[in-house]
Amino acid sequence: MRLNVLLLPGDGIGVEVIREASKVLARIADSFGHELALSEGLLGGIAIHQTGSPFPDGTRDLALKADATLLGAVGLPEFDNAPPDKRPERGLLGIRKVLGVYANLRPVRSYRALIDSSPLKNELVDGTDMIIVRELTGGLYYGTPRGIFGSGTTEHAVNTMAYTRSEIERVAHMAFQLASKRRNKVTSVDKSNVLENSQLWRRVVTEVAADYSGVTLDHILVDNCAMQLVLNPKRFDVVLTENLFGDILSDEGAVLAGSIGMLPSASIGDKRPSGAWVGLYEPVHGSAPDIAGQGKANPLGAIGSVAAMLEYSFGLVDEARAVYGAIEQVLNNGRVTADLKPAGKPASTAEVGDAICEALSARAVSA
Ligand code: NAD
Repeated sequence: MRLNVLLLPGDGIGVEVIREASKVLARIADSFGHELALSEGLLGGIAIHQTGSPFPDGTRDLALKADATLLGAVGLPEFDNAPPDKRPERGLLGIRKVLGVYANLRPVRSYRALIDSSPLKNELVDGTDMIIVRELTGGLYYGTPRGIFGSGTTEHAVNTMAYTRSEIERVAHMAFQLASKRRNKVTSVDKSNVLENSQLWRRVVTEVAADYSGVTLDHILVDNCAMQLVLNPKRFDVVLTENLFGDILSDEGAVLAGSIGMLPSASIGDKRPSGAWVGLYEPVHGSAPDIAGQGKANPLGAIGSVAAMLEYSFGLVDEARAVYGAIEQVLNNGRVTADLKPAGKPASTAEVGDAICEALSARAVSA
């Protein structure tokens, strides 16, 4: 398969973690016989320095041509007081909009070697493996009317939670398709006992489920879901939810995994003619100016984002499993960066990347 991927290292540790992630991508392409077509562009602070814009036209063109984009992080302290359109973060919103990514996927896995870093009891977290699918471009964050109106005692604020049938359908289809490649279960989250919006959500998701006879669907109210995520996270396979609920629940899910440096994310749009899903993949962390340039950054969130890209954009489930397996192996061997508090001397960012590549090569030989 041809893997047509754009790299956007961005700022700070983004550059360091993407260097390791691209090594891993190259190793996977080599081991599994895929053709890797890589391009590289500017986004964020570095793009402002070199072109005057956080999201230059050249980057937009590259992103529209690629099947998937792997992003490091954006943000430089020198821009903290810059006007909004001259801030690195504006580049992030720009690329999400241009790519039309409407679903945010957060894989949440517990790694046995990190289980003690979770604030929950080990037996609750062990074996957790879910994906939270959050609708990204609708709901309260975008609905109109919105604003703060009036003054004095009549001052009031309005936000609107709006969804169209088609917005719900497309993200629901994505959740069911993902589930059909996993453990065949979708849990749809809503607040249908109170909100009409959720009543439409539940009805449309139930209708979409009829197209996927091998996947079971259950519905859960968002308050109960928040509780079940910490009481029994193993019960979830694919969690499907709207924008605001997903924003809150995905951060709750993140706590299950340990360090912020471990967390991948994926934002997905429509299918390209090549059959690949358009996707923007990035670790959840930022540019970490406090450790940038020191070789201390944990690259496993970026490397996990490579696994997510292989699985969701290209449907390469075995390749994704190989990357997850290599991450597990490196964690078990304790060759990890300082944020994961290894017993011995912490490994550098590059040493962790090399260890992942070695683990992948060893797996390829033994397979
Ligand atoms: P941050 O995620 O960059 O850092 C928070 C803390 O976690 C820091 O102490 C950092 O050293 C540590 N950390 C983060 N990633 C790590 C990793 N991979 N390995 C080891 N330690 C890691 O968040 P912040 O400090 O609030 O933001 C810094 C800059 O990043 C800001 O400019 C912010 O706007 C930007 N930011 C960008 C994104 C993005 O590009 N998606 C996301 C969040 C923040």
